[in-house]
Amino acid sequence: MKLDDLPVEARVAGGGEPAVVEAIGQPVLSDYHRFVVAFSGGKDSQACFLHLVELGVPLDRIELWHHDVDGDGDSFMDWPSTRAYCRAFADAFKVSIYFSGKEGGFRREMLREGARTAPVWFETPSGRRRAGGEGGKEGTRLKFPQLSADLSIRWCSSYLKIDVASLALNNQERFLTGRTLFITGERAEESAARARYKPFEPHRCDNRDGVRRRRHIDHWRPVHSWPEEQVWSILERNRINPAPAYKLGWGRLSCMACIFGSDSQWASIAKIAPGRFREIADYETRFGKTIHRTRALGERIRDTAPYEMDEAVIAEAMSSEYRGPVVLPPDVPWRLPKGAFGESCGPV
Ligand code: SF4
Repeated sequence: MKLDDLPVEARVAGGGEPAVVEAIGQPVLSDYHRFVVAFSGGKDSQACFLHLVELGVPLDRIELWHHDVDGDGDSFMDWPSTRAYCRAFADAFKVSIYFSGKEGGFRREMLREGARTAPVWFETPSGRRRAGGEGGKEGTRLKFPQLSADLSIRWCSSYLKIDVASLALNNQERFLTGRTLFITGERAEESAARARYKPFEPHRCDNRDGVRRRRHIDHWRPVHSWPEEQVWSILERNRINPAPAYKLGWGRLSCMACIFGSDSQWASIAKIAPGRFREIADYETRFGKTIHRTRALGERIRDTAPYEMDEAVIAEAMSSEYRGPVVLPPDVPWRLPKGAFGESCGPV
């Protein structure tokens, strides 16, 4: 089916009831030329992609964008397997994936001392490009992002993801023609702050009324009203093998060493990646400031048990290659991973 043929009511694949796509506060999908899905590899971004596919959006109009928090360098905050898992997902569905990040990633931004923020790199259909980094004030961080809904304090989300996407959108001529729907997977159920997000609105890079460089970009959060159950249900219906972190017990695929991590998650990191745990704990000592408002990592794990984790899954999660299937073959039963409905520990 071509996108232009999409009816007002698009039939959900798999024999479900017709879903009204163009309800109030929803985009009219046939108005858009391309669909950019912000893709972490986690369940909510997968649900966004699968929802588009079930609504009949052609795969050649969809692209996945993965913002690499470690900026293409060695894994510091993120799971070593995430990059490869995201690529395997795109390959399995034969859909384009473009990676992007800040040069030097999380670590360089955290260690900024009297310096400007680094430029951003991003992949495009015609190769890798670079933008940003010239302007901006010189400044010093020398601390982890702090637990807050305020993105100037929790700077990792803005500097390593939101701003990276904006630079990639603003610096590609292709977004000056046709309409783009930018899709993210925040859900109201996750936090009071996220519940206040609008499901559909002009994107921050939209410039549809501009005199020069007009850009029509809308922002859609298609799973905003979905409970977690509905997210797992679309993964099950499409037989998606979730990312290894979920099978270890994590409730969301964030950075492995996410600043929002629970005590059990930090205890689990200390077990599966002791070098990484020590490195992060050493930075707490060097900065004289802990990730948690009051408790240092060493103290947080002292009396906390790690998750019970399978050795084979640990190896899969800690590898920079992903060999498992993304879509399970018919003879393999689909199971909810251990982390489902568990500790999500994400942005507030
Ligand atoms: S997953 Fe956690 S540490 Fe990583 S960018 Fe998001 S809030 Fe920051």
